[in-house]
Amino acid sequence: MEEHDIIIVGAGPAGLTAGIYAGREGLKALIIDKGVTGGNANMAPVIANFPGYKSIPGLELLKNIGNQAEKYIHIQEYEKIVKIQKKTDTITLKTDKDNYRTKSLIICSGTTYRKLGVPGEDKYIGKGISYCSICDGMLFKGRDVLVIGGGNSAVTHALHLKDIGVNVKIVHRRDELRAQKYLQDKLHEVGIPIIWNSVVKEIKGDIFLKSVIVHNRETDVDEELEVSGLFLAVGEKPNSDIASNMGVNVDEMGYIITDKNQKTNITNVYAAGDITGGVKQLVVACGEGAVAAINAYEELKIVK
Ligand code: NAP
Repeated sequence: MEEHDIIIVGAGPAGLTAGIYAGREGLKALIIDKGVTGGNANMAPVIANFPGYKSIPGLELLKNIGNQAEKYIHIQEYEKIVKIQKKTDTITLKTDKDNYRTKSLIICSGTTYRKLGVPGEDKYIGKGISYCSICDGMLFKGRDVLVIGGGNSAVTHALHLKDIGVNVKIVHRRDELRAQKYLQDKLHEVGIPIIWNSVVKEIKGDIFLKSVIVHNRETDVDEELEVSGLFLAVGEKPNSDIASNMGVNVDEMGYIITDKNQKTNITNVYAAGDITGGVKQLVVACGEGAVAAINAYEELKIVK
């Protein structure tokens, strides 16, 4: 069984930054991710609030961070963790490919996109429904699409789609957006229409999505809108099952509870990034990853 000082779960901004710090501290460290390096941030069309970059696509920024991390630490992609157990001083990880032993663990497993839970949704994912405007937006150039949600993700997707020539409208369940002001200002500036107080009731089509039934919660009226695409941005849920199954405390929403040193309730187990809830910003995730790795290193030094 492979032995490590630190294993980091997740290769998003938090995990990669933790990896840079752990590697530079000379620890035997490994990052394991069930998918590709970068995580959800890869899907952000534009990031304009990460220090050092006026504006950069998420994919490019995370590629840069990933390349930097790889100088110090191996990133194991497409390996899914099945079970983690803590026994006295050792943590064991069972994945779908291997088994590992580590002295310390940093959980940066992030979040998964929330679904609407309406008829037709499962059928049309990948056939008109997308979570990533940067990946799929060009397929809809010159065509009508809806973005669902009122947060930062919904607005950034809508802005990107408009920018590449897609006819986009936002559907939001309330009468105000929760997105940051600078994004809302940009939305008004470029003139993206918003269908207020409305929710998607049903998604219809043949092989591909063709229309969406939108229900107005104020007037109680349903309207069938003919569209080619639907971009869902209705929030996220934490990927914390493997952590809670090993006894890590989570809050009522499932986010991992940590102290200011990113320590969980279990010795030598840390968490960082969106999995800890709170302010979900790239720069915060990176900061938490650094704090976790520095404290994990200090704790290992004391034990040694
Ligand atoms: P979010 O902030 O949780 O917003 C989700 C949106 O979806 C909300 O407007 C919510 O409506 C709506 N919604 C939830 N369930 C719904 C349903 N069943 N039907 C219709 N609408 C529904 O999620 P997010 O925009 O993906 O952002 C996630 C986190 O990442 C946030 O902390 C955000 O700040 C951060 N983020 C930051 C940036 C940036 O800084 N540029 C970019 C992207 C994401 P209500 O408003 O009524 O609750």
